Amino acid sequence: MKTAVSENQKISIQEKPQPTLQEYGGKGAIVKVLGCGLCGSDIVKFLHDGAPKVLGHEVVGKIVDINNGLFSKFKKGDKVVLGHHVPCMKCDYCRNQNYSMCRQFKKTNIFPGGFSEYIYVSPLHLQHTVFKTPDNLDDMEISFMEPLACCVRAVERAEVQKGTTSLVIGLGSIGLLMGQAVKAFEGDVIGCDLIEERVAIANNLNFDVAMKFENNDTTAAKIKEMTCSIGADIVFMTAGADQSLDFALKAVRDGGTILVFSSVKNDTAGYTNNEIYYRELKILGSYSPAPKDLETAYNLLTKKKIIVKYLSTAYPFEDIGRAIEDTIANKTLKAYIKVEKD
Ligand SMILES: [Zn+2]
Ligand SMILES: [Zn+2]
Repeated sequence: MKTAVSENQKISIQEKPQPTLQEYGGKGAIVKVLGCGLCGSDIVKFLHDGAPKVLGHEVVGKIVDINNGLFSKFKKGDKVVLGHHVPCMKCDYCRNQNYSMCRQFKKTNIFPGGFSEYIYVSPLHLQHTVFKTPDNLDDMEISFMEPLACCVRAVERAEVQKGTTSLVIGLGSIGLLMGQAVKAFEGDVIGCDLIEERVAIANNLNFDVAMKFENNDTTAAKIKEMTCSIGADIVFMTAGADQSLDFALKAVRDGGTILVFSSVKNDTAGYTNNEIYYRELKILGSYSPAPKDLETAYNLLTKKKIIVKYLSTAYPFEDIGRAIEDTIANKTLKAYIKVEKD
């Protein structure tokens, strides 16, 4: 089968043996990948982790072989969308809802990775993180289940609710999902980005306000103006820019929450101890979703509460290198790799 192998900032399609159930003890499923979204975390791994690997985890595919007992929810031929990590739901981390810190969560995965013609999916995945694709969305749309679930978790951790105003820094595909997730949880949302076209997309979606980012002081002052001189209750940092933390500190209200949702290149932005102390700020990270977040995201997508139709561009499998380049160069909001040929 064909597999896209990433190594030392290069990606190439290579021939590898197709996974079989026998290799994995006979249980689970083999899924033929139809398509897979390219995630920001794939780009980070592509750029900064030189070891050979198969990226991709936002998978839509078709079950071509399955052995999961008589009462399995799935059968051969089912079209599915899936999440790639499964928490144990029993350990201390899981009991404290830090599912992505669970040791089992980190160990579980799909093999070899979504940018591959076939993957192995374990019985644990089949039980907790695999869903049949709905009839009312196309493959590319439902592939947003996992990234949206990441946003749902962030919105819940930040306690978005009616009456709160959130600021989303960065209107890439994740920022645009985050803003819509805030609205789905009945909060108000302001978005900002350096790129005019992305601001326009946010305004066409259901953001209350989206504006072009000018600089930390000017844009923070505008946000204060919009929030009775107080500042945003919650700031979601999705941009991955080194200056974001300084901007977030300027735009958040005293006693507000900053939710860190991306890595940065230069991890020395630091945090200002005294500012957090005297202003009673909450700083939270949110990393990866649990099965219940996947389910919430699946429902929001199928009920069309979140619109993803124009957020992604499809690339043929052999053009995966170009998809990565375009994403890095901000030429595309998000790429979806069509692994199966039409
Ligand atoms: Zn992802
Ligand atoms: Zn656990």
